[in-house]
Amino acid sequence: MRPFADYHTHTRYSHGRGTIEENVLAARERGLQQVAITDHGPRHLFIGVRGKKAFLRARREVDALQKKYPDTEILLGVEANVISQEGEIDVPEDVMPLLDLILVGYHLAVRTLDLPFTYHLHIRNRLQKYGLAKDGDLRRRNTRALMGAVRKYPVKIVTHPGLHVDIDTPTLARVCHERGTALEINCSYLQETRDFLQAARDTGVLFAVSSDAHHPSQVGDFAGALELLEEMGLSEERVINLR
Ligand SMILES: [Zn+2]
Ligand SMILES: [Zn+2]
Repeated sequence: MRPFADYHTHTRYSHGRGTIEENVLAARERGLQQVAITDHGPRHLFIGVRGKKAFLRARREVDALQKKYPDTEILLGVEANVISQEGEIDVPEDVMPLLDLILVGYHLAVRTLDLPFTYHLHIRNRLQKYGLAKDGDLRRRNTRALMGAVRKYPVKIVTHPGLHVDIDTPTLARVCHERGTALEINCSYLQETRDFLQAARDTGVLFAVSSDAHHPSQVGDFAGALELLEEMGLSEERVINLR
């Protein structure tokens, strides 16, 4: 199995340590043909890409680098946040045309669209996470919002499924399978991935292996993931960035 792309990397536009060019150079060094720059959506309270101007700057930077490194495809994307129960995400309409791909994942420090969803996302999920309350309805609602996002938007990858909030993996995987959205095998959280992979495996859904690099040195570093895939009996046909 040979990776040819890393679709999930961060830069200084959110809280990554490197520049876009440093991520591109790192991807080239790893022998990748594609690399995506996917910083956090603007409603992340501390680290989101702020406003259309910043996305425009990133777009121009990517376009200029594309000319400089024509044999590496450089994609500009976003790791968007779920901000409502219906699955709206935090990418403004006028930013969408600037992007080549959209990833969506749950993060907790996010400014949501309304108060009930704020309560749901911040309070109920935290209480459950720290074992302070047991909430049977939570998993269903978390899953419903994420499925809403996958149905509403052209989501290429759902990032780190089940990491920050509890979800019903087989149900989400079935919707992703229908929509052609991949579920992520995130190399920064590989330990947490085994159960989720097992739960998603038999649905036929596609996967994407990504680094979630926050430093250029991590771009394209898929150590451990390929072994895990093999162990799970998943071939490269099930993974969108392996051949
Ligand atoms: Zn994330
Ligand atoms: Zn990320």
